[in-house]
Amino acid sequence: MEKDKNCVFCKIIDGEIPAYKIFEDENVLAFLDISQVTKGHTLVVSKKHYDNFLSTPKEIVHKVMDVAQRIGQVQVEFLGAKGVNILTNCYPAAGQTVMHFHVHVIPRYDQNDNFILEMKTKDDSKLNLPVLAKQIKKELK
Ligand code: 5GP
Ligand code: ZN
Repeated sequence: MEKDKNCVFCKIIDGEIPAYKIFEDENVLAFLDISQVTKGHTLVVSKKHYDNFLSTPKEIVHKVMDVAQRIGQVQVEFLGAKGVNILTNCYPAAGQTVMHFHVHVIPRYDQNDNFILEMKTKDDSKLNLPVLAKQIKKELK
């Protein structure tokens, strides 16, 4: 997909909206998130407009992830991060607000550094895990 004229990330890619860019090549752009969850919070985006991770060609996903990995390494080695969260939201139900594929690279400094990701364990007594596994496995073939 090419540019979407209403997309804020397409506008950043085109230079219509300013951003603090930290990496750019033919396929990928990385820039600081306007809302810094932690110091150095970065977005890595495909230059072409795809709605999200799930609808992006895998070659492009791989290129975006390569850049995300390198930025995470720099955050740990040179920014003083003790860890990094790599996150990509797909669809509003998962918290996606900008419908252009992007990966958050969020440096972590300590447990109270403003970023909370909570995975509560669901009561799985009503879930049939063998059936569930079989159902998903069948579709992956
Ligand atoms: P999502 O919730 O879709 O995974 O994340 C979208 C992210 O884009 C948010 O963290 C938000 O702060 C960031 N964002 C939205 N508009 C802009 C903008 O104009 N400039 C920059 N640098 N980041 C933006
Ligand atoms: Zn876009």
